[in-house]
Amino acid sequence: MVNKIISINEIKKIIGAIPDPEIPVISINELGILREVEFDNDECLITITPTYTACPAMQFIEEEIKDRLGEIGINNVKVKLTYSPAWTTDWINENTKQKLKNYGIAAPLHSSCNKVFQKNVMMNCPHCNSTTTELISRFGSTACKALYKCNTCKEPFEYFKCH
Ligand SMILES: [Zn+2]
Repeated sequence: MVNKIISINEIKKIIGAIPDPEIPVISINELGILREVEFDNDECLITITPTYTACPAMQFIEEEIKDRLGEIGINNVKVKLTYSPAWTTDWINENTKQKLKNYGIAAPLHSSCNKVFQKNVMMNCPHCNSTTTELISRFGSTACKALYKCNTCKEPFEYFKCH
């Protein structure tokens, strides 16, 4: 059994690098959902804020965290989900928003985007920046995304919903 001292920063680095299962180009750290890493005696407690309350990706992320920590000899791991404060796209930095855009996902611009989404306001197309887009489905390939279609370039794109 590996028994070396690993700092919380190292743990954050290791699990923060886990790619988001829905958007493999960005890590869970970039997504801003990795909130806290702490030790309670010999238990490693990881706090995650899911992007969407019923997001099925969370289970994958939890297993991935346990796998990666197991590899470095930390087996007593507990993953805690917290919904308060709720995740907002403000936790995604500009670089990451650009990455999302390059990946073909329209990243929300501000924390009130959920309201914007509900009112069905036009989204900018990530392919051609056109604003003449329409909502096709409130649910894209996963519950975390909604599907839009651009009326200018005719390309479909996904919009990354707030929680
Ligand atoms: Zn377009």
